[in-house]
Amino acid sequence: MAPDPLSLPAIHASHVGIWIADTHGRVQRVGRGEAIAAVAATPYLLLNATLTGDRLGYPELSGLDLLELFAFLYPARFAVPTPAGIAAAARLTPPKDEAGIAAFLPKAAAAMLDSLDGPDWPEREGAWHGMQALARQRWPWAPLVQPRLSAPDANERWLFARLPEWEEQTPRPAPRQVTIDPADVSARLDRLTGDGAERRAGQQDYARATAAIFAPRERKEAPQMLVAEAGTGIGKTLGYLAPAKQWIDQSAGSVCISTFTKALQRQLSRETEKLYPDAATHREKVVVRKGRENYLCLLNLEDALQGGFSGRAAILAQLVARWAAYTRDGDMIGGDLPGWLPALFRRNGTTALTDRRGECIYAGCPHFRKCFIERSARAATQADIIIANHALTMVQAARPRDAGAAATRLIFDEGHHLWDAADSMFAAALTGQEAVEIRRWVLGPEGKSRGRRRGLAARLADVASYDEAGDRAIQAAIAAAAELPGDGWLGRLSENDPWGAIERLLAAVRGQVYARAVDTRTADAGYGLETELADPDAALVAAAAAASDAVEALLRPLLALGKRLEVLIEDPPDWLDGQARARVDGARHSLGRRIDTLGSWLSLLGRVGGPADPDFVDWLAIDRYDGREFDAGLHRHWLDPARPIADIVYRPAQGVLVTSATLRSGYGAQGWTEADIRTGARHMDGGVRHFAVPSPFDYARQSEVIIVTDIARGDLPALAGAYSRLIEASGGGALGLFSAIRRLRIVHARIADRLARAGLPLYAQHVDPLDTGTLVDIFRADPHASLLGTDALRDGVDVPGESLRQVIMEGVPWPRPTILHAARRAAQGGSAYDDMVIRGRIGQAFGRLIRRADDFGQFVMLSPSFPSRLLSAFPEGTPIRRLPLDEAVNHVAAANVERRKTAFPAFSPS
Ligand code: SF4
Repeated sequence: MAPDPLSLPAIHASHVGIWIADTHGRVQRVGRGEAIAAVAATPYLLLNATLTGDRLGYPELSGLDLLELFAFLYPARFAVPTPAGIAAAARLTPPKDEAGIAAFLPKAAAAMLDSLDGPDWPEREGAWHGMQALARQRWPWAPLVQPRLSAPDANERWLFARLPEWEEQTPRPAPRQVTIDPADVSARLDRLTGDGAERRAGQQDYARATAAIFAPRERKEAPQMLVAEAGTGIGKTLGYLAPAKQWIDQSAGSVCISTFTKALQRQLSRETEKLYPDAATHREKVVVRKGRENYLCLLNLEDALQGGFSGRAAILAQLVARWAAYTRDGDMIGGDLPGWLPALFRRNGTTALTDRRGECIYAGCPHFRKCFIERSARAATQADIIIANHALTMVQAARPRDAGAAATRLIFDEGHHLWDAADSMFAAALTGQEAVEIRRWVLGPEGKSRGRRRGLAARLADVASYDEAGDRAIQAAIAAAAELPGDGWLGRLSENDPWGAIERLLAAVRGQVYARAVDTRTADAGYGLETELADPDAALVAAAAAASDAVEALLRPLLALGKRLEVLIEDPPDWLDGQARARVDGARHSLGRRIDTLGSWLSLLGRVGGPADPDFVDWLAIDRYDGREFDAGLHRHWLDPARPIADIVYRPAQGVLVTSATLRSGYGAQGWTEADIRTGARHMDGGVRHFAVPSPFDYARQSEVIIVTDIARGDLPALAGAYSRLIEASGGGALGLFSAIRRLRIVHARIADRLARAGLPLYAQHVDPLDTGTLVDIFRADPHASLLGTDALRDGVDVPGESLRQVIMEGVPWPRPTILHAARRAAQGGSAYDDMVIRGRIGQAFGRLIRRADDFGQFVMLSPSFPSRLLSAFPEGTPIRRLPLDEAVNHVAAANVERRKTAFPAFSPS
């Protein structure tokens, strides 16, 4: 007989206080010591053990976590991980206040457990088997769940039997050359926005303009290209989806839409449901693509389920197995696995379930035909619309894997991020960690390392035994890789006892960085150190020459092996059966990546003591965290990373749209020069069209900018006080943006309790043990909540409506004075370049505020000396006031009262 959940004790802890409900449902407020003693003695019902433990100051807290029960009962379903979110998911009335939460938890548990008895519980299949394993792991919920589940009939399919196999399909033929009619585009947009909807002229103009990229290309390497700015609120996504779908229908081609973040990929996927309202058709025609490290690896999961994981990680593996049977696509990061689930297990185990370490054995894997990564790659070759992110789109353009699969039309949404994405994608680094990675790839695990990972010889065992030339190349690569740094290299470096040519190089780099770098002795002391790669000392020049020889010694056999593998694929010998072929093919592609890396190392090493290449910025760096070194090496970035985008990504395409709300560095009346620099359009030899349509929002009425003039830079108590008062004045609903995590943490620590006591919960990135997506979900769901964060929140948060009423920026977001920044600044007009970067950042932050025609919001900049030249970052007509803090607070409070009374009545605080 299962215990009655209504008679279980429950605990709720927040910044305001701690409440316990006893076994009779009586609630009392208790102190920390009493609460910790109680939960240490008996398992309590709670919601989010990690967060509750954090609030209690008792990180070991465990108990009956409703979120774990949710993950078991409703795998792959969404819920905001708060009492209100669980109430919505379980169709219960949410608790009225914090004191009511402890009493609510047993009721929520009872309601959720009732699903087990209902005939219409959609996720019943697999639950009994999963429960048996969880009971063996002593999952706290097992005694309540297990007695209510009956054994299924013998035919029930378990996870690996339940997952469908992918099929090889004939490649999609090249699209027909068609010209789409603007009238058809307009009519389609009307249908997508809804019959009878008022025609939005700006959106219609934008849709017709973007149709231009679908016209047939006139010259090789000169795609039909449009750079288009669509002010916030235009309805940009449907604006380009309308011509895209029209073209897809007429040409039978496919379109790749690339955006910046995983959250935006999810948002885009939802928008495309309007094109394919039938869910099954949508699944087939629209595929979201991400890097392979995002997906569940079934072989890793099987290892974990069969004893590879123990303790809490083993429970996580069982909950992930439940999810794997119901997920849409196996995407663990930003897909339908709840973002809060890994955090409940303190991220213990999630990484080991994905293919993050490149351990995939491709056709040698028993789950190859069901593999989520392989399925997604094949689905993309058949889909009409592929939704990717900028990094993946660039990787695929640089190293195309599937001939014939590349979409000929590319749409880059959030195009202002292309520069940053390309900056990381096309960079090269010869560091200790990178070198260790290549050594492991060649040699496989050494010493006590565990895992399935195997070296080159084991991965290509059949080549080594049947093909003499291939075997010779593999053995030579193994001998050369032994020269690369292995385990313990950091220790040897700090003891000045390097081993091998690359470690000696890293030791020389380290010596030069410590000799020349300027340690700021400020707040950032103890973090990264860097120095230009200029006038290297003799020791570094000599070490670089020896390192070049070592790299070449490895590169030569890898190139020879690559050629052998190509021959084997083109002219297959008898022993190369289907599985071996897939293995050789997989090895060929991973070999190509390593060859590219080694090639980039050689050019970087050739630069030490040689002439500088004006296209690149090179420097030496030591990476540190809190004074502890974790990497060292040489770095190379493109001075203008948009150049390789033009060469590698744009030129091969037939049509390219680069679009965003803030391409022209803010909302000012700038020309297109900045946009062409940041997107790489200036490298496209003319023929690039431009189009801009302003936002339909009435910024003069819907928003205002307040520049607070009396908070001195660096005065942290004053900064914290300002945040606290401004958040209270608006009754929450504030997004606080910081340039440094350290300041964010200090401000949060000073004000969270005080705000919570006023009924205004405060959440923070880098403080609360929750992923960014979940923090935004919580913020969105509660109009009294506020959220503090850094860059990721500035650039991609879409929170329309009452939940976001105020954006507070801690100061002007000056670029960090790195060597790379200094080089670009010198190349692109000095302070004008800084201004371009800053205006872009402020424009993005301001852009979070007004997402709908009925939004109203205030943007507060805490900066005593905000330069007037940066005011063009704000939309024209936005009222701008410079006020001392007291007046700013009064102003925010008054606007908040006014808003509740009149124009924006949606907000009604309880
Ligand atoms: S094919 Fe590779 S990624 Fe896929 S399940 Fe097997 S080992 Fe994992």
